[in-house]
Amino acid sequence: MTLLELKDVSVHYGRIEAIHNISFAVEEGEIVSLIGANGAGKTTTMRTISGLLNPSSGSIRFEDDDITKLKAHLRVVLGISQAPEGRGIFPGMTVHENLDMGTFGLKTRANVDESFERVYTLFPRLAERKKQFGGTMSGGEQQMLAIGRALMSRPRVLLLDEPSMGLAPQFIKQIFSIITEINEQGTTILLVEQNANQALARAHRAFVLETGEITRSGTGRELLNDPAVKEAYLGVG
Ligand code: ATP
Repeated sequence: MTLLELKDVSVHYGRIEAIHNISFAVEEGEIVSLIGANGAGKTTTMRTISGLLNPSSGSIRFEDDDITKLKAHLRVVLGISQAPEGRGIFPGMTVHENLDMGTFGLKTRANVDESFERVYTLFPRLAERKKQFGGTMSGGEQQMLAIGRALMSRPRVLLLDEPSMGLAPQFIKQIFSIITEINEQGTTILLVEQNANQALARAHRAFVLETGEITRSGTGRELLNDPAVKEAYLGVG
């Protein structure tokens, strides 16, 4: 079943067109990766799906709803949740309080408790540091906190923008294996990454964005073996 679908979506910053006529779909249960160089339009695409930016043309569907004009907080209630690039955690709040900020839209205490349990089980490190201020955590821990917070609303689709950015190698491995685990628990994932190797290896399907347009698509494996992708994004020619 198609969960999320973008059709001919373009987004402008003033007169600058950042993405041009992008169309793709995410099926329920998939990990879909968007790869591309700096400035290709990956973050713009994610922020458009989460409702922080408005498309200048095109449409976005989530299940049976046209959400093109829906406000961001209502998209969270429908089941779209984003862990933003650069993490965006609240440094002066504890880990627990940061996670609690993600429970927006959950109606019952039982749902909130269940979310805390899921996140603390996925990230034992966060459970150990419940009372620590977000700002005093390491980069890798803050990334876990940002993903954990996005999971608190029990999303149907989780949008992850550069989860491996700036992390030490041992954290990168850990973050990607947690992403697979979250997906295996039933959450659909749209992943934006510059670490193309890992992003493609983990993806069911993937797209390449170049200067605001989708130029290639295929299964993760197909793109991993695509000579042009290898040369441009995987550091082998
Ligand atoms: P990065 O990996 O660097 O985040 P990206 O693929 O996510 O890159 P975007 O951040 O989506 O790319 O940017 C796409 C294009 O839009 C770039 O040319 C960028 O310079 C431009 N752009 C992004 N944000 C703005 C803004 N607030 N105002 C004007 N132009 C912008």
